[in-house]
This record gives sequence, structure tokens and C-alpha cells, in this order.
Amino acid sequence: MKAVVLEEIGRASLKDAELPEPKPGEVVIKQCITGVCYRDILTVEGFFPRVRVPVILGHEIAGEVWESRSERFRKGDIVASLTYIPCGSCDRCRKGEENICRNRIAYGEDVDGSYAEYVRVDERSLVKVPNGTPMEGAVIAACVTGMIIHAFEIAGLKEGEKVLITGAGGIGVHAVQIAKAYGAEVIAETSSEWKKDRLFSLGADHVVCSKEFSSDVRKIAKEGVDLVLEGVGQPTIDQSLKSVRWGGRIVVVGNVNVKPVELNLGSIILREVRIFGSIGATRADLEKALKLTSEGKIKPVIHSVLPVEEFQRAHEMMRRRENFGRILLKF
Ligand SMILES: [Zn+2]
Ligand SMILES: [Zn+2]
Repeated sequence: MKAVVLEEIGRASLKDAELPEPKPGEVVIKQCITGVCYRDILTVEGFFPRVRVPVILGHEIAGEVWESRSERFRKGDIVASLTYIPCGSCDRCRKGEENICRNRIAYGEDVDGSYAEYVRVDERSLVKVPNGTPMEGAVIAACVTGMIIHAFEIAGLKEGEKVLITGAGGIGVHAVQIAKAYGAEVIAETSSEWKKDRLFSLGADHVVCSKEFSSDVRKIAKEGVDLVLEGVGQPTIDQSLKSVRWGGRIVVVGNVNVKPVELNLGSIILREVRIFGSIGATRADLEKALKLTSEGKIKPVIHSVLPVEEFQRAHEMMRRRENFGRILLKF
């Protein structure tokens, strides 16, 4: 099969790879598509020093069980996978916080991932996909929509709250829909004028589009917003802090340029702003994302679907932030 292999840091290429075979407790999934993620670019660039090369890139996995040595999944089942294998036995895993299991094994970094037609997956990563779920929605349910649900759960998003979502890339366009599904009033932030109309069409109640967007946010929410989903990181965090109300919350999921930020601690203390980090999705988040997708409350926004041979182009598009929605690779 064709697979995109990270041979060494900085060098990924399309290779011929052996078809994987499942070990006990594992299945092999046949995929028609996989998701491209900014994390894949960071992996190639060497931001995660523990990456074991050579490794097949990618961690956004869904498809049909092709071969099974699992008691829980049979050939023909349609499944979606977490982006990692949880150990299942540590304190965090037992509490359903497997996303922060310290023993977790990451697809596309520690073990072979999804940039290949066939992927070997551990049953601890898998959930069944409900009928009526588009495959594009299943493949982004762990890393994108489930991750957003996790962030909103961590930060305790409630119906009727005002939420600011920064960045209108692959995360933001889905976060707008999910915040609406929670019953929030949504302000979407984007730095690209052309994305405004499309954000409205996804359900955003307001769109702000300026470098100093906090002043526009304050025109909509005079006291500031209840919650910010910070999907960008260093370029927007200062404006996000200025947009949040006293006693409000910021949940950080994006770190696009991996740069340190300067924080005004006084403003955080005096206004009792709570800042959360949120990583990935638990199995429960993944199930919730799939359910909302099967009900049509989350519509996957796909910028383009490229043949796997063009993975470099896909990465380039993401790097230049040309995409409105996710980019997929097809096999
Ligand atoms: Zn991802
Ligand atoms: Zn664990």
C-alpha cells in the first residue's frame, strides 16, 4: 500500500509499505479518507522530540474494519478512532480522562498512523460510528469536533452564554456549530475578510475581523464574553484576555506558531479570569461528536480532498492558512 512515511525529522515521503496485520486486541481499518492536521506539520518539523522514526504520519482515523482480532469489533463495522491508544488502567483512564493518560501512545508519532489506506488500530482507541454519519464527519470526530466538545466541557459552557471563538480555520468553523448546539451566542473572530459570510452561514451570530478585535467584541458584549475558545494562540491571546468578562474563562486549544506569550497576570488576578488548557478528546467526547454529526448538528466543513500523493501540497495549504475547514487526503 501507499503510505506517507516520516523517515527522519524534516523528511516525509510517499513510500510503498507492507499491509499491516492486526495483533490480538487490534483491528486493521480500511480508510477511504484521512484528515490532515497542523500537528502533522509540527511532527515533520520536529516539535515532538519523542517521535519514533520511521513512522507513517497522521492520526485522524475512521473507516471500515477490514480485519479483526478484537472481541468488540467485527469485519465490516464502521469505526472511528481516538488519536491515541489509552493505557486503560491508570487513574486518569479509570476516571474517563484518557486524553491525559501519561502512558498513551500516539498514532502517527509513536506508532504508524493514518496517512495510508490500511491502519492498524488498538481496540481501546475505537468507537462505532452511528448510522447516517458522513465519513468526513467521522474522520474529524476525534481530533477536531470531539476535541472542541472536550474544551467546552472542561470550561463548562452553558446555554445562553456568550462565546468568542478565535480563528476560522479547521477548528473555528466547527467550534461555531458546536457552540450553537450548546445554545450559546457565538462571536467568531477571523483575520480574513472573505471568511466572514461563511462564518455567518455556519451559524455565527456575530463576526469580528480586526487586529484589535476586543474593541469590536466589547461593542457586542459590553461586559465581555463569558468564554473564549482560543483556537489560535500567541497572535490572539492578548485580545482574547481583553475580550473576556470579569470572572470569565478562556480555554486554550490552539498554539499555531508555538511561541511563548506574555501575560498580564494582574489583569487575570484582579478580574478572576480562569484559563484552561484542553487537549484532545476522551472516548465520551468522541461519541458525543459522532452523535451530533449523525444528527446533522455538526456539518463537516471540508476545504478540499486531495489524493494522498499530494500531501505536501495539503501541508503547504495549511501552513499558508488558505483553508476554510479541514483538508482531507483520499486513497
Ligand atoms: Zn489532528
Ligand atoms: Zn492510562
